[in-house]
Amino acid sequence: MGEQPELPVTPPSVDWWMTSLCNLTCDYCWGPVPSKDDRSLRSVIAESILASRTPAVTFCGGEPLVVGDDVWTYSRAFREAGKKTILNTNGELLESSLDRDPQRAITDHFDVVGISVDAVDPDVHRDMRGKRATLARAMKAISLVRDSGVQLKIATVVSNVNKDHIADMARVVNETIQPSVWRLYQYSSRGEYNRGVDRHRLDTEEFVAVTEEAKRIAGNVNVAASESATASCFIVSQEAKILLPVGDDYEVLGDVRHDSIDSLWRQDPLAPEVVAYKTWLQRV
Ligand code: SF4
Repeated sequence: MGEQPELPVTPPSVDWWMTSLCNLTCDYCWGPVPSKDDRSLRSVIAESILASRTPAVTFCGGEPLVVGDDVWTYSRAFREAGKKTILNTNGELLESSLDRDPQRAITDHFDVVGISVDAVDPDVHRDMRGKRATLARAMKAISLVRDSGVQLKIATVVSNVNKDHIADMARVVNETIQPSVWRLYQYSSRGEYNRGVDRHRLDTEEFVAVTEEAKRIAGNVNVAASESATASCFIVSQEAKILLPVGDDYEVLGDVRHDSIDSLWRQDPLAPEVVAYKTWLQRV
């Protein structure tokens, strides 16, 4: 057996659940259960990330753009500290969030913006992401990111509901969207707020078949597919906890109010999986 590569001294990215709130109601959400966020914790969490050697911060949640100006303030601070910043958003609020401040430019805040699109058929996209989801707004967000010159990631959850529409989407990804990376995630039943297990469940064999076909159709587009069993992130929650994805749930590894992120990373039993899961980030 070959030697395992040495682990980095810090997570390749800290995934910051900025908020538990979201403007959409996807029934496959593996994020936090919506509740009243303690906003005062955001500055503590941001300081903890700034003090760590992590090279990248991913803003997620919940929907990071529902928190008003905070996501723009902290992303700027991380950029100025030399960290790469990634925004993961459903895209619906990007245009209005930019319009709130005419000085705001995506390029000043983010290196990569990930937009969630689960199908290029508006009805299927809505069937995946709830009745408030509008494909047109997500596509508008895509064009704003493309026009800005910031790298674009398209994020697609593949489940039993949309599996037959992924090939059509691969054609549009190849011919029109041309993102820097297309991430395909196998539906995962993880998370307390994840209510759609029965209709979304998709076995790994089928996921692999769907994603292999998508890769073939997507041509030169960089496609990175992750099976739910191997999906792992280094998450700091809106409650300042470091969360370990374990089975269908999350366990608490520590609290960034008491321990440094880099010391908690050294205790993370899933660190090798996190490194593997974030490999795509080095390619954008
Ligand atoms: S999956 Fe994302 S967009 Fe959907 S409800 Fe959860 S946080 Fe919101």
